[in-house]
Amino acid sequence: MPDRENRPLVYGLRLGVWYATLFIAGSLTIVLLTYFATSALLAQRDRQIIDSKLGTYAAAYASGGLDGLTEVVRAEQLTAPERLFVRVRDWRGVQAIVLSQFQGWDEGSLETGEIRLPDGTLLQVGKSTDLRDDVLARFRAALGLVTLSIFIIALTGGALATQSAQAPIRKLIAAVERISRTGRTDERVPLVEKRDAIDELSALFNQMLDRIEGLVAGMRGALDNVSHDLRTPMTRLRGSAELALAGPADLDRYREALADCVEEADRVLVMLTTLMDISEAESGAIELHREMMPLFAIVERAVDLYRDTAEAKGVTLESHVDDSVVASIDRLRLEQVAANLLDNAIKYTPAGGRVDISVAREGGQAVLRIRDSGIGIPATELPRIWERLFRGDQSRTERGLGLGLSLVKAIVEAHGGSVNVESTPGQGSIFTINLQLTS
Ligand code: ADP
Repeated sequence: MPDRENRPLVYGLRLGVWYATLFIAGSLTIVLLTYFATSALLAQRDRQIIDSKLGTYAAAYASGGLDGLTEVVRAEQLTAPERLFVRVRDWRGVQAIVLSQFQGWDEGSLETGEIRLPDGTLLQVGKSTDLRDDVLARFRAALGLVTLSIFIIALTGGALATQSAQAPIRKLIAAVERISRTGRTDERVPLVEKRDAIDELSALFNQMLDRIEGLVAGMRGALDNVSHDLRTPMTRLRGSAELALAGPADLDRYREALADCVEEADRVLVMLTTLMDISEAESGAIELHREMMPLFAIVERAVDLYRDTAEAKGVTLESHVDDSVVASIDRLRLEQVAANLLDNAIKYTPAGGRVDISVAREGGQAVLRIRDSGIGIPATELPRIWERLFRGDQSRTERGLGLGLSLVKAIVEAHGGSVNVESTPGQGSIFTINLQLTS
């Protein structure tokens, strides 16, 4: 897989090139801006000097004429650090007055300014740009060095950035590859605790592994349970048949054995059908035949079904219904839900206890509640009762497959509702179903 191995390198290289380009572009912009700002500042300074001199000289000319001006200029030439060229032109031609080392008025190397005096004379002041050009030339030379340093820093920085950007990605890739190669879902990607995007990705990956691990464990557990739970009826089925065959031919014994076999086979079928129903409901593949139904109709039917069972066990069964509560439901599926919950409530409530089933509207929702005064559910078992094939420790003596509540939850959730339980061991349980109200 050379292609895949090269991918982080390409990514890192791209990052490094980006980093270096941005750094160089940014730095060069700053350097060039500084250069042009300095150049403009120097030019502006020259202009200010020229303007102020023009003012001074014009005043000197006004008070002392050309002689007065010459005197002022000469005096200045002795002390002033910056040599200025001064030229006075009358309307006839050019007349220059004294300037040190003046070799001629070369506009190319001078920054000049002029003012027309009241008598028509043109007063011109020139300032040599040599000094300025010299400063800027040095600046440019320094810029060469700075630019070179910028390139070196950018390329080293880019290379380092490439390295450091690649390192965590390489680690992540190595860990993911190790996990996918070994198939060990208990391995985790190490976190660097830098709280950066790579760490976040690693944490998410670990979370995903946690979930996969949980699901795989759940599936494995369910499969183990199914195999285990199928073994019992299958063994009994085989036992009955074997026993019947072992003895002498006897039609009555055969009949009895076959009846046992049918019973056991039914048990297996119910279990498999329920498991498939749960899977269908959980995956959303279940087809719900929804209709607007008052929930009390569901409750009444379930109560009718279980009245005799409750009576036989000595459990009081009562219903309390608000007949205006209507919801869009699959009648048969919801009857299955109510029947399962009622069956459990009666099954896990000793003689003398009571079971109440009610329908009400609460907080804008349709609520179906089944409350019993039975054995209750220990806190340790509460989160597990919705699992397929889970059976409570105290429930082993009762008949059951451990699939009722899984089916209840799957059907209710397929309806867009929710199911909750509150329970106190020794005092009883309350199962509550919330559904969308439609009236
Ligand atoms: P089962 O066939 O064992 O009743 P269920 O899926 O219906 O399977 O319930 C799972 C477990 O939840 C039961 O084994 C039991 O421990 C517990 N349980 C369910 N309903 C009740 C209840 N009303 N009172 C006490 N325990 C209950």
